[in-house]
Amino acid sequence: MEGNQRSFAVLSGKDTKPIGDPAQREIPKDLAGVLDESAQTLFLTEMMRGLNLTLKAFFDQKVTINYPFEKGAISTRFRGEHALRRYPTGEERCIACKLCEAVCPAQAITIEAEEREDGSRRTTRYDIDMTKCIYCGFCQEACPVDAIVEGPNFEFVTETHEELLYDKQKLLDNGDRWETEIASNLKAESLYR
Ligand code: SF4
Ligand code: SF4
Repeated sequence: MEGNQRSFAVLSGKDTKPIGDPAQREIPKDLAGVLDESAQTLFLTEMMRGLNLTLKAFFDQKVTINYPFEKGAISTRFRGEHALRRYPTGEERCIACKLCEAVCPAQAITIEAEEREDGSRRTTRYDIDMTKCIYCGFCQEACPVDAIVEGPNFEFVTETHEELLYDKQKLLDNGDRWETEIASNLKAESLYR
């Protein structure tokens, strides 16, 4: 009880009398105390103090935001939805070295690769099971060409498990969609990598 009263006093300001559970309130034993208690009851002072606190909070700066219409700032290191990036020419960055597949602690990545006619090595399959992924960022750290990254998108909730089984096309589409933000974040973090 004492703890409750004290925390309310802290919340409502130093000079505010604690408003606690009426059942546990100290009963006044002298006439002055009884008169004081009666006056408080008669003039609804506790209610007025409560309303005063509400009014004060109404004009205070709000700490909440109106999501999804307003969004808070996200760190440049945020590890969100995965994406496969391309070079500005449109060529895929991924060289199918499979380092990301090897380092993934959740074994969420599956890669198949073959050599192209021009001798370059590229993936024919790049899947990520997003329901296995633990968003550790190891795949991004391991990639020598900044191909697989975790972008800033955190709004990719789905209704089915299958929708979270990403294939190469889905990952490349993510890369195309978020390239501006991803490139900006990578540039901001380049000093620390
Ligand atoms: S973030 Fe971690 S768990 Fe997820 S795919 Fe990359 S390495 Fe695997
Ligand atoms: S995404 Fe990067 S680490 Fe993974 S296979 Fe491609 S080049 Fe290698």
